[in-house]
Order: sequence, then C-alpha cells, then structure tokens
Amino acid sequence: MNNNRIGMKIGLIIISVFLVVILSLGITIYQLFTNFYSKDMETELTDLTTHFATMAEMSDKTSEDMMQTFADFSNVSVFYLKSDGSIVMHSGEHLVTDHSFIKNEDVQKIFTGKSISTEHHDPSGNRYVVIGQPIQREGVITSAIYVMASTQHMDESLTAIRQILLVAGIGAFLLAFGITWFVAKILSRPLLQMQKATQRIAVGELETRLEIRSKDEIGDLAGAINDLAVDLQRYRDTRQEFFANISHELRTPITYLKGYANVVKHKMYETEEEKDSYLEIIEQEAVRMEHLVKDLFELARMEEGRFHLVMEQVDLEPIVEQAVRKVELKAKEKPIELFFEMDRSVSIPLVYGDGVRIEQIILNLLENSIRYTPEGEIRVKLYGNEDKVTFKIEDTGIGIPSEELPYIFERFYRVEKSRSRQFGGTGLGLAIVKKLVELLGGDIRVSTEVGVGTEFEVDFLVISNN
Ligand code: ADP
Repeated sequence: MNNNRIGMKIGLIIISVFLVVILSLGITIYQLFTNFYSKDMETELTDLTTHFATMAEMSDKTSEDMMQTFADFSNVSVFYLKSDGSIVMHSGEHLVTDHSFIKNEDVQKIFTGKSISTEHHDPSGNRYVVIGQPIQREGVITSAIYVMASTQHMDESLTAIRQILLVAGIGAFLLAFGITWFVAKILSRPLLQMQKATQRIAVGELETRLEIRSKDEIGDLAGAINDLAVDLQRYRDTRQEFFANISHELRTPITYLKGYANVVKHKMYETEEEKDSYLEIIEQEAVRMEHLVKDLFELARMEEGRFHLVMEQVDLEPIVEQAVRKVELKAKEKPIELFFEMDRSVSIPLVYGDGVRIEQIILNLLENSIRYTPEGEIRVKLYGNEDKVTFKIEDTGIGIPSEELPYIFERFYRVEKSRSRQFGGTGLGLAIVKKLVELLGGDIRVSTEVGVGTEFEVDFLVISNN
C-alpha cells in the first residue's frame, strides 16, 4: 500500500475493529468453557462427597473398604477429620502431609452442618478442587469428610480449547487482513486516481478525464472533477480566443488612427475637405474604440459575476418609448421609418427586472436593426400575459444567413466580416444582450431571412422565477 495513505487508514480501522471483536469473542468463549468445566467438576465432586458421607455414616468395615476402592477408582483423595481438625483416615494418591487446605474455620463451619468448596495448589503447582461435608451419626455431627480431585484433566481440556481458539483466531485474522487489504485497495483506488487527476489538472493538463465506474458518491465526485476540467478547458480556450480577438479588434482602429494622423501631420492632403474627411475617420475610429472598451469591460464584469442587477417591478412601456425616441434621429437619417405598436386597450403587467439593463437590451437590438437595415422600416411591439411580457423588433434589413445564426450571440462574431467595418459594430452587442437576458431569467429568440429582414423577440418575466 505504498503511497496509499487513505488505503492504510481504512485498512487499519477495519483491522483494529476486527481485532477488538475477535479478541473479546475469544476471551468470552474461553471464559464460558472455563466456567462450564469448573461448575461441572464442582457439581460432580459435591455429588461424590455426599455419596462418601452417606457411606461413612453407615460406619462398618465393608463400607470403609468400599470407600477406599471407590476413591481409588474415582481418582480422588479422601480425608476424614475429627472436630479438632486431626486426620483420622486418608485414602487416595494425595500425600497426607500436604493438608494445608484444611483450615480451622472451614472445619468449624462443617461441624455446624455446612459444606465448603475450595481450591488447593500443591507444592508442585498442581490444582485441586476440594469439597468438605459433615458426617452425622444419629443426628450428631461426628466427623468431617474432605474429598479432593485434581483439575489436571479439566486443565488439559481447557488448554486444548485455548489452542483451538488461538489457531481459529489467527486464521480469521489472516483472512480478515487479506480481505481488508483487498477492500481498502478497491475503495481507495478511485480516490487515488482522483488525486492524480486533480494534480494533473492543476498543472494545466486540462484534457485529463476520469473514468466513472460507479453510481455512488465517489462516481459523483469523479463526474464533478470531469465537469470542472471541461469548464476549465473551455475557460482557457475562450480566454485565449478572447485575448486574440481583443488584440485584433484594437489593432485595426489603431492602424487607422496612426495612418490618418500621420497623413494629417505631414499635410499629405490636397484640400481642406480631404483633411476634414481624414479627421472624421480618426474621430469615428476613436469612438469605435471607446465602444469596444466599454463593451469589453461590461462583458468581462458580467462573466466574472461582478455585475449587480437592481431587481424591481418595472413598467416596460415607458422604457421602450424612451429607447425608440433615442434612436429616432439615427433611423430617419437612413431613411428608416420607426413604429412602436402596442395594444393600449389592454394593460401590460409589470415585469421583474433591472430597468437600466432592460433599456440596454432594447437599445442594443434597436441599434442593430438600424445598423443592418439600409432603408425601410422597423416595427417595435410590446405585448404580454400574466407570466411574461414580450418585446419584439422586426426590421426589413439585410437578414442573417441561416448557417450563421447559431453563432451570432458569440463574442466578436460578425456576419459578413469583410463588410463589418462598414456597419461599424463591435461584435459584442448580441453577446451582451444574451448574457443580460439570461441574468434576468428571460429568453431571446431570432428568426430571419436574407434580404427580407430579421425579427428578435425577448421575453421578460412577470415574477421572479427564483
Ligand atoms: P455587432 O456589434 O457587429 O453588431 P452584434 O453582436 O450586435 O455585433 O451582432 C452580431 C452579428 O449579428 C452582426 O455582425 C450582424 O451581422 C448580425 N446581426 C445582428 N443584428 C442583426 C439584424 N437586425 N439584422 C441583420 N444582422 C444582424
């Protein structure tokens, strides 16, 4: 798991949890067995002791012999005691000298009619279970009997169980370790791939994409990284294109400015009228540059999101009227007849938007129609329902070829590039209009026919759709 710290962490957590579970389970099972064997042995020995006590109560020689044989046969040792604790009789393998388990207080307890149960360890470390009981004759406790049995068999069984549990535990641990290693690798692999992909994206390899293999959160994350890479790539490409366009757009008027300023400076004209026409070109180009810089600045602010709209209830009628009035003179010069048509018998609802920006949209479309209509007429219409108000502008201008239509809202896109200077646009007007309409939550549509005219429709929302 080199370099795979997340895999290590996942693995360590799973293994730690597993170790805790397996250890507590092993200890519990072992305890259960120990308790079971101890209880079983104690019960058996108590039964045997009761048996011996009953036989002792008969007190004849046969029963003593029988007890001796029985003790040997049962693999236990038997001690008879008087009330002062002295041993009267002893049978079995256990040495009579090792009787430290016989304690005074226990003997006294037995002589009050109770039984005792204790454990004894001999000098060689062997463990014994010891049971003591009273022996009665004619209702009087005359002596005590101690029966002791070695726990050797039980300890051997418990050792075997311990070994089985240990082997099973180690086996389970190894199996769990293998599975954990595998699972941790599988779980961490996509995360590592994402880490590498983001590192590549960060150093500019924006073509990097991740394969989306799952439909879970990890798959979603991979999808989000891919989307981010696509956005960054598009941003980088459009930015490069944008700067190329800007330098091109600025270079052209600057060439004109330099050229004509030089002509005037070196008096390379013959008449005063000629000089004035050159100065006029200089002025026109300066105005064009001014527009270009203003438009660029505006578009950049919109795209960076540093653009604030003042949203309020807006009446479109006076805004359209004012915009029409502003361009009337320009239209007349062409000559173009300008009409504003509106059914005044029905009231048009207020729209939710920024009045200044709405006027900018309308003015841009009006100026375009005037610019691309050599002569004829332009009709402006306003109508609406409870959801939206539509501004419509129809001209009888040159129209837009259908193959160019998908691109007219792109920055710096111009139809008829060779003639663009003649019309004097910046190529940014419709890009700004589109962006503004989007920001206001509206919609813009265009239909056109070359040589017949163009029609733009813009919907403004009556209420906010947020
Ligand atoms: P420009 O500043 O060059 O007018 P726009 O972004 O406003 O740039 O418009 C993009 C292109 O769409 C223009 O170059 C023009 O060819 C075309 N266009 C826009 N409006 C009209 C119209 N009303 N009639 C014909 N062509 C138009």
